[in-house]
Amino acid sequence: MYKSHPNNPKIKIKAIEIDKAKPNCAVVGVYGHPNAALMTYYGLHALQHRGQEASGITSVYFDTEKNKKRFAYKKGMGLVLDVFSENGVLIDVLKGDMAVGHNRYSTTGSSSAANIQPFNMIYSSGILCLAHNGNLTNAKTIRTKLINEGSIFQTTTDSELFLHLIAKSKEKSVIEKIRSALKETRGAYSLVMLTDNELIAARDPMGIRPLSIGRLKLDDGYAYMLASESAAFDINNFEYIRTIMHNEIVVIDEETRKTGKIKSYKIVNETPISAHCIFEYVYFSRPDSKIFGHSVDKVRRKLGKSLAEESPLFDSEDKIRAIPVPDSGNTATIGYARVNSKIASPTLFELGLIRSHYVGRTFISPGQNNREFKVKAKFNPVKGVIENRNIVLVDDSIVRGTTSKALIRLVRSAKPKSIHLKITSPQVKHPCYYGMDFPSEEELIANYYPNEEEIGKAIGVDSLHYLSEKKLMESVPQEEGIGYCTACFTGIYPVEIEDNINDSIDD
Ligand code: SF4
Repeated sequence: MYKSHPNNPKIKIKAIEIDKAKPNCAVVGVYGHPNAALMTYYGLHALQHRGQEASGITSVYFDTEKNKKRFAYKKGMGLVLDVFSENGVLIDVLKGDMAVGHNRYSTTGSSSAANIQPFNMIYSSGILCLAHNGNLTNAKTIRTKLINEGSIFQTTTDSELFLHLIAKSKEKSVIEKIRSALKETRGAYSLVMLTDNELIAARDPMGIRPLSIGRLKLDDGYAYMLASESAAFDINNFEYIRTIMHNEIVVIDEETRKTGKIKSYKIVNETPISAHCIFEYVYFSRPDSKIFGHSVDKVRRKLGKSLAEESPLFDSEDKIRAIPVPDSGNTATIGYARVNSKIASPTLFELGLIRSHYVGRTFISPGQNNREFKVKAKFNPVKGVIENRNIVLVDDSIVRGTTSKALIRLVRSAKPKSIHLKITSPQVKHPCYYGMDFPSEEELIANYYPNEEEIGKAIGVDSLHYLSEKKLMESVPQEEGIGYCTACFTGIYPVEIEDNINDSIDD
């Protein structure tokens, strides 16, 4: 289906409705707790923002009748609350003290039920249940090779490739099978896996997507939790232990449960400099989470501080009102207001836009007119805060610009003196191949106008400033061996992309 380009009605483009980069997925794993599935459920609920299309949990338990380990699963389309709403499913069906779970937003593969994770199989080494966050960049090549060798695929996702590669590996031990499979893949993966007796996790050699370890002290040892973001630990009272490092495989087993000793392996011998997704800090992750070993809140405050340093606003007559576009702009606005007060003019952090949490994300609206309504349904300006004031509006990114335009019209209806839009990231100009969904390049507003001044005019603000790449890099944690992916801003991709990456395997 085709429709008019948002920035030029004469151009016809493929109709996709997206005005923020769509978040990728969430993974959670629990080991050594009698309510493992329930805790996974709460963890997935805490990470609902990372995927709202479908959800699934698999648990592994000991079947006393058959005298062997078995797995049980429940998957479905929709939000976590809806998928697991059936009475008793989390206790009576998803039994056992090990579980893995997944929230899906489809970055590869269609949204069919077959593509809902975790994926489960029984093979020569026993049970393997797997949940994946990220996108592989050589999926087509591997899939073609496996099909030519006789593999039959059940899904259209890149995540299924891991199962085939692990099952076909000639290595002896499970860990070596997993390692050999991971060595064949390229791209982004944060994986949680269950075997008969272990919870195993891995982050790709560049560590593009986050994955952390949490722990809960019990009377006879520890229970462990692995999750994309530490907010999943907090809801379950697990203590954050550490990030899983890039190029690391960790194994949590009975010994770990008793002693606290986590086994750790490398995927490739030489660990490269990481390429952590910088957008996780800018927008995707919850501000109350730790990712990559650091607090998202702290980084977002710094982003706001950097924005004020780079683009201060002066007003000699009245206090400036710094207003976030909720929720992802909230924390950065605190940083902006504090620093702008110091270096420019007194600035008040104000909640000038109130967000309703009961409407879907704006990118799901089916057309332009509808978008206007959805923005209105989602945000309401506080007239008393905005009227006759100079406003700094802080947002994390602009993708197509359609929501921004509607939002600015809404803010204008509250009659401010002026609106100065400050963005805590550089211009988004390139697609992401590592698990984030952006519109096609020609739809990105930054590719349509020559500079930020013209983009600002098109959006309808008095001024617009995007954080520079240099300031963005200064705002994120700097550690030895740690680097960042900034490809959607710079077009420099840290992991090679295969030529046919845009060809659909659903066709
Ligand atoms: S391209 Fe952008 S969104 Fe994708 S991994 Fe890199 S920084 Fe993150």
